[in-house]
Amino acid sequence: SPRVFSGIQPSGNLQLGNYLGALKRFADAQSSGTPTLYCMVDLHAITVWQDPADLRRATRELCAGFIASGLDPEKSILFNQSQVPEHAQLAWVFNCVARMGWMGRMTQWKDKAGKNAENASLGLFAYPALMAADILVYHATHVPVGEDQKQHLELARDIAAKFNHDYGADFFPLPEPVIEGAATRVMSLRDGTKKMSKSDPSDMSRINLTDDADAIAKKIRKAKTDPEPLPATLEGLDGRPEARNLVNIYAGLAGLAPADVMTQMGGKSFAEFKPALAELAVDRLAPISAEMARLMQDPAEIDRVLARGAERAREIAAPILRQTYDIIGMVGAQ
Ligand code: ATP
Ligand code: MG
Repeated sequence: SPRVFSGIQPSGNLQLGNYLGALKRFADAQSSGTPTLYCMVDLHAITVWQDPADLRRATRELCAGFIASGLDPEKSILFNQSQVPEHAQLAWVFNCVARMGWMGRMTQWKDKAGKNAENASLGLFAYPALMAADILVYHATHVPVGEDQKQHLELARDIAAKFNHDYGADFFPLPEPVIEGAATRVMSLRDGTKKMSKSDPSDMSRINLTDDADAIAKKIRKAKTDPEPLPATLEGLDGRPEARNLVNIYAGLAGLAPADVMTQMGGKSFAEFKPALAELAVDRLAPISAEMARLMQDPAEIDRVLARGAERAREIAAPILRQTYDIIGMVGAQ
């Protein structure tokens, strides 16, 4: 039966790409009637060093970001990964199923490890096996993510299929990525060929969900563009990644198709388009950042939400882990 799972790392400031590519769509999926689980993946965050106090704060702020974006802890299971030990336990099994070669081909690994792979953590390399465990420990079937996670989803399917094959068991479903909407890959405001990221060292590269109206307006005003006005049609955006990005962001925030944005905005200069985009962004994001700030005033309440979510998540994960252990021949699992 269908089940939705997705996660976000508490690795810094939530940014506009997280909202349009993930959070906003999680909130939409919540009313579909399918059970939904959403996870703060703190075990993923520590694949690169996090200051402990910052990690704690980022985890609570992420939970606030989920709720402020419309996720209802009664309708969805909202929880923190390390509070459900079955994720790490199944990840170990998957470390033994996945192949080194598969991991080495992941573009996220190559991007994040950079030229100094010898010095990257083993956890960063194994990241996709933990991600497969996050999904499959719930037998989740649908995973709403941004475009950048498509390759990891394919790897999760490969792990599920290899496990089923190696143990002659039809046990894990092959999870499907759900990548839809106008803004599945929001790009950096400084470089139209790089995705917007929480962990980008340049704060000007992204719009944070906690940015105030002035910061949002300034970042959009300073966003890199070319000197031409917007073209009349979508095709005219070919070869203009920065212009395309701003159009996609506008479409994502307005709930329009990019083609409709071109109908409204085609021919306008950036001097006209950017203020319109800034106004729209402030209009959509200000209520979210206000609600996040309000929720962050009561961290104990956030912790209660997460504890309750972890309890509910464990009720699903524990029997699936036990069955997995039984299939692979662990004594005591029967
Ligand atoms: P980090 O830089 O620490 O990797 P991140 O911004 O990439 O942070 P993640 O926690 O890795 O965020 O990803 C959370 C979700 O947000 C995933 O579903 C991912 O696909 C989505 N996402 C991340 N960046 C973007 C983006 N620029 N556009 C659309 N979706 C995005
Ligand atoms: Mg990321």
